Amino acid sequence: MIEPGKAIGVLGGGQLGRMFAQAAQSLGYRVHVYETSGPSPAGSVADCETVAPFDDAAALERFGRSVDVITYEFENIPTAPLEAIASWIGIHPSPEVLHTCQNRWREKAWLKAHGFPHVAYAEALDGDIAPAAGRLGIPCVVKTADFGYDGKGQMKIAGPAELAQASAIFRGRRCVVEQWVGFERELSVICARTESGETRTFPVSENLHANHILDVSVVPARIAPEVGEEARRLATRIADALGVVGLLAVEMFQLPGGALVVNELAPRPHNSGHWTLDACETSQFEQHVRAVCGLPLGASACRNPVVMVNILGDAWTWAGGAVVGEPDWTAVLAEPRAKLHLYGKPGPRPGRKMGHFTVQGSDVGETLALAQSIKLRLGGGRLSPG
Ligand code: AMP
Repeated sequence: MIEPGKAIGVLGGGQLGRMFAQAAQSLGYRVHVYETSGPSPAGSVADCETVAPFDDAAALERFGRSVDVITYEFENIPTAPLEAIASWIGIHPSPEVLHTCQNRWREKAWLKAHGFPHVAYAEALDGDIAPAAGRLGIPCVVKTADFGYDGKGQMKIAGPAELAQASAIFRGRRCVVEQWVGFERELSVICARTESGETRTFPVSENLHANHILDVSVVPARIAPEVGEEARRLATRIADALGVVGLLAVEMFQLPGGALVVNELAPRPHNSGHWTLDACETSQFEQHVRAVCGLPLGASACRNPVVMVNILGDAWTWAGGAVVGEPDWTAVLAEPRAKLHLYGKPGPRPGRKMGHFTVQGSDVGETLALAQSIKLRLGGGRLSPG
């Protein structure tokens, strides 16, 4: 066990690292953030920040020597330098898990090899997308195998013109082509797992996206209880099979009829779990601290219905490409059932995640309606229809 008072190293300095650092510090840990450019949202709240490239072996070794355990808050980290230090410092989840989940080829091949339900897909190299699209049918979606997030590196193909365009755009890239899924809902489950194999899932989150970016999470998800149980079972089986120590977020599509297929895995805290900060007995960030440090896992029940809304840079007032006005924060702050979380990022940009707010209530429909009206007053348009 890594007891409170010891030091946790976090690779990556974004908002997930920031909220992780705050949870770790509440439990008495010291936090050292490693980021490629600083000061970062996580680095600015941490006890210490190293600014160096992820493949700087000497800086990584110094970082490892300064902490008692290492975790990470995003997947785009080269694993070879981590494997080099993993013989003398615990890295959780392991570099092998990171290696599998950071690349869509490897992740999908792993799901397939282990018999987990996944979206039909084919691999495509160097813009050669037509054969895969021919096999899977149109519409389909092309995604880069590495370094994609929040819809970046993705393109939906709805006809021949887009197919030609995609072939040019993805030239020189490794991609997966996926069948377009006419899903009923998008769901996610965050599962915590300790080194001894204890697991605990958070309640299922129902997620609504806008422009491929998470817009809203709704809990409890508006699904039949047996679908929820199956989603939690599926996430636990995947976390067990991967041997995750820490958190694993499993994004899924619920098909008409109720069947679930896995879309994506993330071995870290996840945007669709931010509501746990305000509505759960233990937040996802505290649970990640507990799992990577070998502490007993915390209770994961959700106290009441909750809606989480992302605040993007679009909520600022823009004119001619420049910010001319702040969002009206009182829209959130004056509402007793709402909580505001901002990530301390210096410059808003359209599409950039700047913060989120949650609204709690006694009924999902009414809580969602209040979240909608707060978002409209705050700026940034309407919520995704859901
Ligand atoms: P991803 O980065 O793979 O999580 O994709 C971002 C979002 O795009 C998802 O949450 C879905 O809303 C949408 N999307 C991705 N893949 C598919 C698919 N195969 N079929 C339908 N929608 C998809």
